[in-house]
Amino acid sequence: MSQWPTWLPLRQNLRELSPYGAPQLPADAVMNTNENPYPPSPELVNAIAARVAHVALTLNRYPDRDATVLRTKLAEFINGLSGTNVTSKNLWAANGSNEIIQSLFMAFGGGAALGFTPSYSMHPLIAKVTQVQWLNGSRREDFTLDIDSAISQIQREKPALTFITTPNNPTGSTVTIDEIEKIAKSTSGLLIVDEAYAEFSQEPSAVTLIEKYPHVVVIRTMSKAFAFAGVRLGYLIADPAVIDAMFLVRLPYHLSALTQAAAEVALDFKSELLGTVAQLRAARDHVAAQLTDMGLIVIPSASNFLLFSGFEMPSAQLWQAMLDRGVLIRDVGLLGHLRVTIGNEAENSKFISTLSACLGEK
Ligand SMILES: *Cc1c(COP(=O)(O)O)cnc(C)c1O
Repeated sequence: MSQWPTWLPLRQNLRELSPYGAPQLPADAVMNTNENPYPPSPELVNAIAARVAHVALTLNRYPDRDATVLRTKLAEFINGLSGTNVTSKNLWAANGSNEIIQSLFMAFGGGAALGFTPSYSMHPLIAKVTQVQWLNGSRREDFTLDIDSAISQIQREKPALTFITTPNNPTGSTVTIDEIEKIAKSTSGLLIVDEAYAEFSQEPSAVTLIEKYPHVVVIRTMSKAFAFAGVRLGYLIADPAVIDAMFLVRLPYHLSALTQAAAEVALDFKSELLGTVAQLRAARDHVAAQLTDMGLIVIPSASNFLLFSGFEMPSAQLWQAMLDRGVLIRDVGLLGHLRVTIGNEAENSKFISTLSACLGEK
């Protein structure tokens, strides 16, 4: 983008950037942003509506700036999943984990940030916007993380922030808890573990490392497995010193009373909201097997999406052909690869039949 008007005093470092833009297009099967395909039950919808009606009585007032009730509930939720003993002092909540990532850069981005590419594209993009130097670390050819190489990259660059995403987006592959501990032992600065898809994985969460390694910071979200993307609620679990720094950089009253209320109700319905995880995992394995049967190559995924390759058409062309037939998947900008989010049963079979049709016709 070089066509910015000359009168516009846009920051130099923003001039070359493009906005985040996963297409939001109408399609029969929307399978491009890793959401959970199952909407909330009528019971949950009613419970949210009742709480929102109650909160609406006091919308003339600012919300609880510290989101104390929500942070306490999130701590209980995490302890229930991981057997930890964290409290609200270990929890920070924000408008999606994207805001969490932004706050981390604002608080700790005095030095560089390192991530291992390909991974979540918003890490480098938010770094650039917040004027933090971003370093692209490398992975193996098959996109898995070589731990010894990662450690030497960290020790060479000495970043203030190192990002590990597990399960990784867009590949779906995991880094084990032992490997994360090995990295934590040899890292200074903060080790940020982005666990946006943790609930889909069988690996223990890195929240179990925080007590022993206070520089480990875990990012989670309600947007994926938790089936609550529309409300925008992300959170981090860390040593209380990290939380204290979040208080410095947050905007006052950043988390609306409506967001806090909806998220609190959702946590009361956690069994319902996480109830489709096993089903989605099974569907993922089924779709992966179908892709393999079609002669395609699928990276083993511990998440709710699959990255596949092995087709001859350019990926942008196959992406468009799929969309023309009503199936929206994701071109993540990796040569010869496309990513599909696991949908409901009808969406998954539409995806497979449409893909067969597109590849058969080439
Ligand atoms: C989707 C995603 C997020 C962002 O989630 P929000 O909480 O919706 O902002 C963060 N990290 C990774 C790796 C993701 O894939």
